[in-house]
Amino acid sequence: MKLTNDQIDRYRGQINLKKINIQGQIKLKQQKVLVIGAGGIGSPVILFLSRAGVLTFGLVDFDKISKSNLHRQVLFDNNDIGKKKILVTKKKIQLIDKKINVKTYNTKVNKTNLKQIIKDYDYIIDGTDNFTSKLNINDECVKQKKKLFIGSVSQFDAHVFFFDFSKGGPCLRCFMPKEPQNTTRCQDDGILGTVTGVAGTIISNELIKDAVGIPSNLKNEALIINLENLMFRKIKIKESKNCKNYE
Ligand SMILES: [Zn+2]
Repeated sequence: MKLTNDQIDRYRGQINLKKINIQGQIKLKQQKVLVIGAGGIGSPVILFLSRAGVLTFGLVDFDKISKSNLHRQVLFDNNDIGKKKILVTKKKIQLIDKKINVKTYNTKVNKTNLKQIIKDYDYIIDGTDNFTSKLNINDECVKQKKKLFIGSVSQFDAHVFFFDFSKGGPCLRCFMPKEPQNTTRCQDDGILGTVTGVAGTIISNELIKDAVGIPSNLKNEALIINLENLMFRKIKIKESKNCKNYE
């Protein structure tokens, strides 16, 4: 695979980075990325990755845009209220480059449909807002040995995880075996748009690095960010003997 003259022009800024170069740009072009949840985390992820030169996306969401989404879901504006998130996202991404291919899945993920939905993608991004979906996505990614990024936000806090299950290692369930009790959606607890933005931007950054061969030191770790006190810390996730994915 080669780059076209248009692509060499378009991505010049990052091709000039020695650690990316033409070879890294070609790798980005070849990646297939599935974004689950077209909301506060999914918006910046698909925006940055499409601008960085990823051309093949899957996008899963069943929801429509509401006025209260606009403060954090940076792809949408007033004219989009009431429209389907997946369709508006696809349209806006293709304004950046009409060669970007977005396959849309108008559904809520569950244990059954995830098997088919994730199978053709190299990277899975979990930008969902509930732990049932997060654990289901995690379990299916373990089975299919995928690379998985997870973003989770609440109030001023963002948690970002990266697992590469092609190499074994721990999973989300090792860290959190069951769904926490009495959890509410991030919007109900309160959430700042910059918090979802930081989570989505860090996921995009680490995915670009991994795709071009720059080691990500987030692998098998969780990055815990508190944006009220501007505290960043990483914790290593260890394989749990009790995790059902390793029985
Ligand atoms: Zn596990």
